[in-house]
Amino acid sequence: MNEVEEIKHRIDIVDLISSYLTLKKAGANYKAICPFHNEKTPSLMISPEKQIWHCFGGCSEGGDIFTFVMKMESLEFPEALKLLADRAGVQLESRQSSDFQKSSQISKNRLYELNNLAARVFNKILISHPSGQPALEYLKKRKLTPALIKEYMLGYAPSSRAINGYLKKHGFSDLELQGAGNPDKFYKRIMFPIKDAMGNVIAFTGRVLDSEQEPKYLNTPETIIFHKSRVLYNLEKARGEIKTQKATVVVEGQMDVIASWQAGVKNVVATSGTALTSDHLQILYRYSPNIIFAFDSDSAGLTSAKKAYEMAIVEGFNVKMVDLGKFKDPGEMVAQDPKIWQSAVQKPIPVIDWYFELAFAKQKADLTSQEKKEIAKEILPLLKKIPDTIEQAHYVNLLAEKLDVSEEVIFSALKKVEEKKNSKVTAKKQPKKQNLTTAEFILAILLKWPEKIKQVSNDLSDADFKDENLLAIYKALLTEYNITKLRKDINREQLLKLDDLLLVVSSENAEMLKEDLDSVLKILKENRREDLKSYYAKEIKKAEMDKNTEQLKKLMKEFQDAISTKN
Ligand SMILES: [Zn+2]
Repeated sequence: MNEVEEIKHRIDIVDLISSYLTLKKAGANYKAICPFHNEKTPSLMISPEKQIWHCFGGCSEGGDIFTFVMKMESLEFPEALKLLADRAGVQLESRQSSDFQKSSQISKNRLYELNNLAARVFNKILISHPSGQPALEYLKKRKLTPALIKEYMLGYAPSSRAINGYLKKHGFSDLELQGAGNPDKFYKRIMFPIKDAMGNVIAFTGRVLDSEQEPKYLNTPETIIFHKSRVLYNLEKARGEIKTQKATVVVEGQMDVIASWQAGVKNVVATSGTALTSDHLQILYRYSPNIIFAFDSDSAGLTSAKKAYEMAIVEGFNVKMVDLGKFKDPGEMVAQDPKIWQSAVQKPIPVIDWYFELAFAKQKADLTSQEKKEIAKEILPLLKKIPDTIEQAHYVNLLAEKLDVSEEVIFSALKKVEEKKNSKVTAKKQPKKQNLTTAEFILAILLKWPEKIKQVSNDLSDADFKDENLLAIYKALLTEYNITKLRKDINREQLLKLDDLLLVVSSENAEMLKEDLDSVLKILKENRREDLKSYYAKEIKKAEMDKNTEQLKKLMKEFQDAISTKN
């Protein structure tokens, strides 16, 4: 057995995936809400027997434990291998890992070792060297316990700037020291090691002790193992809690993370040395679509806080914020009383409500038309960003009420708001490959096992097929049952599609599908129901806006009928 097989043998895919997602039993398999595309009903299936997973919803992703971890943690294969090897207790041959790294001049593993050693030295200086004493006093004043200092491996970089020399004595080269971002650049600073998903130290943030020193926070520059725009401080510890609490609390600094953790609010992360990016948000979305910001929103922090809120709205998060009240940051709140922080996180404010308050707070009771215009100008661009039409309609309604104008006026003003072109986001949302609908997957199975057709033909309808060629193949199959004959009945374009589809069934995912067609059909129906709901929600809203009561009645009835018969 090679290493990969050994790891696969030792790690059960159901155990692994359930440490990230909530699983439900579905026949012989399990299903979960797919973290790789936006959905409300679970389309991701996991087969304990085959030890594979596959999404039958919008994204068509699938594979084994390695592909899952690679996607979930945004890792390359060698990193996923290392992560799972650690989990399985399998020792990797070092020869193999250095093979993987031939391409890069400096080995990532060496940089992990270097940073881990540096972190241990900084920690030792903090807790037992006289030069670390003032830093230790400072942390004690902030009510950090020795256990917490140990858990977060906090340290102190003294003024002597001797860490590079120490690391060189331990065999690290100048090239490696530079590759790690030159640890000697940190001096007279409290050191916060930053870890990746596997718990490797990949970088540091150094906070000054003496307020004269600049800058207050210093970070390791980008290296081959540290990409600021993707790394979230504390995610490796917080992700389990994020899953159980069904929300991520995002704070601004490492001290806030640690204070929050100490106060028992453990679903907490922070960025390191950069503002929040859409990459950060996409990583967090895999764990939960709910985000709670606890940012300093005094006038200095307001612009960056608003930018983060708006990015999260665009990414489809349910965005809330903690009211910090008179406190500067969560750390201060916890220092006063951990309970204040706990209860503040328990009742966060929807961020859009806060925008409303902000806009209306400036104005007196009776609004002039000019004031109404100003408020609308402030709020409309935000409402434009809400991807969910129902939620958007809710706030349009609220704004209309508060401004004492009709909803139609707000809707038409909303249409005129320039949509800011965010090419990065839209480019990412484009599917990379041809995505099949659930029904089209089922067709692939039927092509290989036509005897299954009776089991499913009653449940499939033409509307389940996006691709008309695939629909034509399905219809031909219904009359033919025989693939050789079928080939003669369809045109050239359809023939090409047929061959594409047969490639799908050559994968082992098809086996899973075949054996649990009932569960897949259930997924099909649930997805269909969701699609139907959102279709009617849109149409009904349109009819309401047009004040078309006839149409409205008709749609309501159609909707009721569809919901009761389709399932
Ligand atoms: Zn998916």
